[in-house]
Amino acid sequence: PGSTDHPQLPIIPQGISRSHFHSAISELSTQLGQDNVSVIDKPPKDDGWYMEHATTHDMMSVVPKHEFMASAIVYPASTAEVQTIVVWANNHSIPIFPISMGRNLGYGGAAPRVRGSVVIDLGRRMNKILDIDSEDYTCLLEPGVSFYALYEEVQRRGYKHMWIDTPDLGGGSVVGNTLDRGVGYTPYGDHWAAHSGLEVVLPTGEVIRTGMGALPGSNTWQTFPYGFGPYSDGLFSQSNFGIVTKMGMTLMPAPPDHESFMYTFEREDDLAQIIEIIRPLRIGNILENVAQLRSAVQTLAVSGRPKSDFYKGSGRIPKAVVEAECANLPIGKCEWIYYGMSYGPKHIRQYKLDIIDAEFKKVSGARRIDPATIPKDNYFWSRDKIAAGEPDLEELLWCNWVPNGSHIAFSPVSPIRGKDATALLDITNKHQDCQGVEIFPAFVVGLREMHLIVECVFDKHSPSACEAALASMRGMVDDAAKLGYGEYRTHLALMDQVAGTYNWNDNALIKFHERLKDALDPKGILAPGKSGVWPSRYRGRGWEM
Ligand code: ADP
Repeated sequence: PGSTDHPQLPIIPQGISRSHFHSAISELSTQLGQDNVSVIDKPPKDDGWYMEHATTHDMMSVVPKHEFMASAIVYPASTAEVQTIVVWANNHSIPIFPISMGRNLGYGGAAPRVRGSVVIDLGRRMNKILDIDSEDYTCLLEPGVSFYALYEEVQRRGYKHMWIDTPDLGGGSVVGNTLDRGVGYTPYGDHWAAHSGLEVVLPTGEVIRTGMGALPGSNTWQTFPYGFGPYSDGLFSQSNFGIVTKMGMTLMPAPPDHESFMYTFEREDDLAQIIEIIRPLRIGNILENVAQLRSAVQTLAVSGRPKSDFYKGSGRIPKAVVEAECANLPIGKCEWIYYGMSYGPKHIRQYKLDIIDAEFKKVSGARRIDPATIPKDNYFWSRDKIAAGEPDLEELLWCNWVPNGSHIAFSPVSPIRGKDATALLDITNKHQDCQGVEIFPAFVVGLREMHLIVECVFDKHSPSACEAALASMRGMVDDAAKLGYGEYRTHLALMDQVAGTYNWNDNALIKFHERLKDALDPKGILAPGKSGVWPSRYRGRGWEM
């Protein structure tokens, strides 16, 4: 492998000739129909935006675009057509890369790991809600169903007793987000834990159904996730062992009522104390949802105004400026903001909210902001919607912080402990003083662990900003690993590095994944390199980055 600045398009997958590629593509076009195979023979016009994004490459590219560019995109309409594509890829040794909708921003978007791969865009035509069971609170989805689409269908059917769960941005695919182990903000926020049952096309073309779906006539595919025997679902998340064509998901009973709350804290150094307070409240379910502790600068940025509105100097915006600006917002002068929601009837909520209030107020200067005083256009109300399972897009606004704003995330997992939060924040601070790079840390607290999501915002048209962003991410990953922290998810460009940190016992886990990969995908065609898992045909040949 090797790449030039202006490669000839389409980018032909390594190892086959241009003429072989074109004849293979015309064979596939005959099988799927001309309209469902699109060769990328012209440079993409632009990146588009979140809801109308390019599927040819990563719209928030941190490396030169062609590094992760597809040769063609195909649009199957059914599981059988996905099988056809997989068999075709095996016959021609052409790498394929499945996406559901490709809105995986910050982690690579729609882009394949290996340039010249044929991207399988499942979302365009396989976008049916196959079932919503209003008694069992479950649904069965194809990959092209977005959180918005599921939400709207639940509303359209008048199912007021049922909620969906949505991540910060609602335009992505439920299946794609769940397979990537994304999270949302209701009590059903751990999407992978909430799914039940998969239909998967294996890399050699066979189809399986997992869990109860393997038993013909079973009516518990979406209600009992395990079935019988080894639980295989895990093999298909963040993996390149199969293409998921259907997924079951559980839905939440709508609580009788709910109420958002917000606390602010004055000093960066309050972090450790806040986290120590959160842990028992979260594990004890007094804090009921995957809750967020955000930095003040991110809340300033989510106003959608650019940094240059607040600060004309170079480098990071000074803390004093952030503080002064926050003083003009409903949050007031602060360093950290906690967003949470309480669910249930008034007396149950009040019981929990009183405990939360007493605990958070132990931090000197902590303030509860009365929602009645918060204007309706404030970001607080976006969090309010999301924590009640209503999709939203406001989160995108912090990308405006720098021109051509793009983002990439460093997402380590740690215990919910003050000392761990502080250690991770120190690593973040150490690596963020790079020119042209802005960093927004947010602690996302699960039940017994927390993810620190450090969003690094950069100008994607500035090569030096892209380099600085990637370098700061790489530095954070390495420093975190030295202290025993690993990422829960990462960008295509960092997958090898992150997989390399999970190296206990002489890389025993990665070796296990490679054995599975070689057994399941002997030709090495399905998403080679995804999550750092390379098939033998690619291993040790210079693809790792
Ligand atoms: P979303 O649009 O919800 O953000 P993406 O389509 O970008 O989701 O997918 C997120 C990640 O999950 C990508 O790495 C992609 O390769 C993988 N993925 C998505 N859908 C599937 C699928 N149906 N089968 C296997 N892997 C998938």
